[in-house]
Amino acid sequence: MTKNRNEIGVYVLSFDMKYPMGYWEEKPWSPSFISNQMIKIGKTRKYTHRMKEYEHTYGFRASEPELPDVIDYYAKKGITDLNFNKCNGCDSREPHHHVKQEYFRSTGLMFSDEMAEDINKGIEEYIGEVFKEHKLKGFNNKGRVREYYCKSQLQNIIKEIDCFIEEKEKEIK
Ligand SMILES: [Zn+2]
Repeated sequence: MTKNRNEIGVYVLSFDMKYPMGYWEEKPWSPSFISNQMIKIGKTRKYTHRMKEYEHTYGFRASEPELPDVIDYYAKKGITDLNFNKCNGCDSREPHHHVKQEYFRSTGLMFSDEMAEDINKGIEEYIGEVFKEHKLKGFNNKGRVREYYCKSQLQNIIKEIDCFIEEKEKEIK
């Protein structure tokens, strides 16, 4: 059993960057970008930790990841100092990020590990089906990100997730 059961659950994020940002700092060559018109649905077993990762990716960074592929990528552009001290999403050089936590609901408190896992996965699939018209592969729908949607559906999606979880809770009561 996971220790912090309230950390297991489903979340929805929105973003407020000025410029679309690469979705993965460890793959700066990726064509997938995230904009402030997108939202992300996700499941996690470690909510706090996961949010820190998003804030790092979509925010100010002192330096880029020191991974061989990343170092290579920048070296080919003639850049060897990876201490960029910048944010790709705006012009500010102060520590900050562009992630807004819109929603989190724990499934770990109410359900066993296995059930929570099933429910979290079920929600992603269910939302994917109901809102498939609003799914985005990336900024301008170019790229290959998963579980990102048009921001216009934010409240509708949150409502559906709540309903989904409440139905499951009724089943075990
Ligand atoms: Zn910024």
